[in-house]
Amino acid sequence: VDFDLTLEQQQLRHAVREFVRKECTPEVIRRAMAEGHHSKVLWRRMAELGWLGVAIDERYGGSGGDIIDMALLVEGLAPGDPAVGPFFTTVCFGGKSVGYFGSEAQKEFFLSRIAGGECVFALSITEPGGGTDVLGVMQTRAERDGDGWVLNGAKMFTSAAQRADYLVVVARTTRRDAVKKAAEGITLFIVPGKAQGVSMRKIDMLVPIEDTNAVFYDQVRLPADAVLGEEGRGFYHLLATLNNERILGGAAALGLGTAAYEAALLYSRQRTAFGKIIGQMQAIQHYLADMATELDAARLMVYRAAWLQSQGRECGVEATMAKMYAADVAVRACDRAIQIHGGMGLSNECEVARYWRLARLWQIGPITNEQCRNIIGQLHCELPRSY
Ligand SMILES: Cc1cc2nc3c(=O)[nH]c(=O)nc-3n(C[C@H](O)[C@H](O)[C@H](O)COP(=O)(O)OP(=O)(O)OC[C@H]3O[C@@H](n4cnc5c(N)ncnc54)[C@H](O)[C@@H]3O)c2cc1C
Repeated sequence: VDFDLTLEQQQLRHAVREFVRKECTPEVIRRAMAEGHHSKVLWRRMAELGWLGVAIDERYGGSGGDIIDMALLVEGLAPGDPAVGPFFTTVCFGGKSVGYFGSEAQKEFFLSRIAGGECVFALSITEPGGGTDVLGVMQTRAERDGDGWVLNGAKMFTSAAQRADYLVVVARTTRRDAVKKAAEGITLFIVPGKAQGVSMRKIDMLVPIEDTNAVFYDQVRLPADAVLGEEGRGFYHLLATLNNERILGGAAALGLGTAAYEAALLYSRQRTAFGKIIGQMQAIQHYLADMATELDAARLMVYRAAWLQSQGRECGVEATMAKMYAADVAVRACDRAIQIHGGMGLSNECEVARYWRLARLWQIGPITNEQCRNIIGQLHCELPRSY
């Protein structure tokens, strides 16, 4: 068993940490949050460093990395870089989906632009009726109109939609009663953010991440080449990126939990009470010991799943376990970090409160931890499907 990262992976991890330390300063984060969590400067820097091309083949201007590189990037960027939201939606969803299922013309057009930092993608799946049972509730539909399509519907929680150049929209193209399975008859569309008939409302969220939106599609006319992948197979296409999504959700949670642990450790060495540093108190040491141990276990799970995926091996259960466990561990670690900081932990001047708000997302997205447990019960424990 080899638990070591390669030299290149270690260098990438180091470079991301240095980028966050030097360039994602509290001032940059505050400014980005005040301007809708958006930082063009950081986005440009990430493109220059080749990170926006990590999921993209070198043939199309990418840097040709794998899921382990993506996990290292997401883990490192999550606590510090306000551009991690669009990184997730553009690189992990847009880049990967176009790379997997795009036509040659779509690859030529989109991939070099993604790698060059020239376009941002968002992903519109969740509907007002629910995200967990999205297949059961999906109302968004696209109908043929001559050579093209007309799209109608509404989506919830589409991250980074305000500044997305393109939205990948999941829509039903064959009526539910005309297909055997709910997953059939669904198609992916690449919709320009500024297309006529697209409108959005920003949702005020607890999570200080890129803008989160309700997006409305009203008689949006699309050309035939807006279809991504095979018509009617869109949901099956999405399944191919699910493991990546879970591994990277786990990596983001891991990065946040680790940042909270490091902040709490530093504070425990500086803050004094009863004439000694609080890190000398057994209760505080126990908190830190638990945080360190759980984060270590989560790290092993996330990178095991990433390694399996990079080898082209089955990792559905491992990726689901990793995202679920890392999210729970991260929220616990952030909560303990707040406790160790005392009153200061609840101040918005203190980073650990922001880490907690960010970490909380990963127990809900991209799939809730309850649904993760359902899947593990079914696929790993081999119990009857509960949902
Ligand atoms: C900050 C943020 C960003 C997001 N970004 C995006 C995005 O970019 N694109 C996008 O498409 N979506 C996005 N989402 C949506 C996210 O994927 C959904 O919130 C998630 O899938 C859950 O769906 P829901 O919120 O509708 O909850 P629901 O599906 O309504 O579930 C409500 C509760 O019921 C529980 N539940 C439901 N069914 C079961 C069951 N069978 N067993 C046990 N418990 C169950 C759930 O676990 C949850 O606790 C984002 C969400 C957040 C919070």
